[in-house]
Amino acid sequence: MSFLEYAPAPESTAVLNLKNSYGLFIDGEFVDGSGTPFNTISPATEKHIAEIASASDDDVDRAVKAARRAYEKTWSRMSGRDRGKYLFRIARLVQERARELAVAESLDNGKPIKESRDVDVPLVASWFFYYAGWADKLDHAGLGANPRALGVAGQIIPWNFPLLMLAWKIAPALAAGNTVVLKPAETTPLTALIFAEILQQADLPAGVVNIVTGAGATGSTLVRHPDVDKVAFTGSTGVGRDIARAVAGTKKKVTLELGGKAANIVFDDAPIDQAVEGIVNGIFFNQGHVCCAGSRLLVQESIHDEVVDRLKSRLSTLRLGDPLDKNTDIGAINSAAQLARIRELSDIGEAEGAERWTADCAIPEQGFWFAPTIFTGVEASHRIARDEVFGPVLSVLTFRTPAEAVAKANNTPYGLSAGIWSDKGSRILAVADRLRAGVIWANTFNRFDPSSPFGGYKESGYGREGGRQGLTAYLKGATA
Ligand code: NAP
Ligand code: MG
Repeated sequence: MSFLEYAPAPESTAVLNLKNSYGLFIDGEFVDGSGTPFNTISPATEKHIAEIASASDDDVDRAVKAARRAYEKTWSRMSGRDRGKYLFRIARLVQERARELAVAESLDNGKPIKESRDVDVPLVASWFFYYAGWADKLDHAGLGANPRALGVAGQIIPWNFPLLMLAWKIAPALAAGNTVVLKPAETTPLTALIFAEILQQADLPAGVVNIVTGAGATGSTLVRHPDVDKVAFTGSTGVGRDIARAVAGTKKKVTLELGGKAANIVFDDAPIDQAVEGIVNGIFFNQGHVCCAGSRLLVQESIHDEVVDRLKSRLSTLRLGDPLDKNTDIGAINSAAQLARIRELSDIGEAEGAERWTADCAIPEQGFWFAPTIFTGVEASHRIARDEVFGPVLSVLTFRTPAEAVAKANNTPYGLSAGIWSDKGSRILAVADRLRAGVIWANTFNRFDPSSPFGGYKESGYGREGGRQGLTAYLKGATA
């Protein structure tokens, strides 16, 4: 062990109380699914964690019926103040069981424990606290007089922030008075099922939240169910398109939070050390499995070499390995399929002429891993500058003037987020004004707060999550 190495500090899994198999959570109880069950594994070891039920069309129908009953008999009749009490209770239980949720998330998803413990789970609690506060104040949200709930919401979430995306969906839906059927991603159902136990603990009335595990087909059935009033989806642009087509011409309200290819723009007057940390956080946080990741670094030409050199030396200090080790910076790639996609796009980057640099780190023998990688000499037409890699891969491009930076940043079919690094506030505001992106960070990156709306332009989707704007998606006739 060299001087700067850390001794292993693995978080214990003893805090977990997992079952061997999990059913669907319908009408307040765990029930058998009639589809073929599947396994969830740890992507860091490829070891089996638990067997998960798969919801058939009939099971989805049962869940929607339970949600409808709960909406009509209980939830829509309850005062906002009482709904708020349940949400506060859920938030406090999330805090009480925070360590368990963080360990389960890192085990099932592969993300470093320091991220699930310090980012994901605290944000989950804050999302429930925040929307708990809104439940009895909907009349004062500036969304019109006497706002009414929509009814039953069908919600589908991806694998990159499993519990956090659940919170982003469930908290505003319940605060606004809707009931929910939620489908987690196939590779990361575990924390949603522990969350179902939390709902039992919180005594949430049966049927207000139902969780149907399964593959894409389960999500597709949920979206098409005639008694769903609202569809909320976070995932890829391809599936988002399919969903938009499926609900077109129906009464269903839809919000889509899709992919991104964010520009992180570094001007020559930026505080370089701070910017390097922001670049690392922007693209290597959560192995780059982040829809708003700063995957395109646009750096002013005069400081390109200095930034790239400092970035490489910083990346050489990142520790890749066991997600449950508190020292780990880079965890496992979530699935074999995602790893194959990252490898394919990186190989295409090299074949198209960009220069590839990979941090020199030992890759564990089991599991799915990809070392932090940078491409320099990237051109705007390269696939790695256009396609969402959704992995720890950064494409570096250069610019000479602010106008060129803006033109290059906007040269993408996506428009979810962007970052600007500069010492001048006036320059930040002028550039931010011209960027076509839903969220723009200045001298920071990947910061989230429940009171701040989040969402995209163009192929990154429509609708906003977070803030009072996030309530509009769950209320009749509301406009933010
Ligand atoms: P995905 O394939 O679109 O899957 C997302 C969810 O949809 C999963 O639960 C998936 O189930 C389900 N699904 C798959 N096919 C479906 C269908 N035909 N109808 C209904 N549901 C279906 O995306 P992913 O690979 O899991 O996630 C990565 C993508 O999500 C990236 O492109 C990323 O940018 C985007 N994302 C966006 C945001 C945002 O806020 N904008 C946040 C996170 C991720 P299975 O898991 O069983 O396939
Ligand atoms: Mg898993």
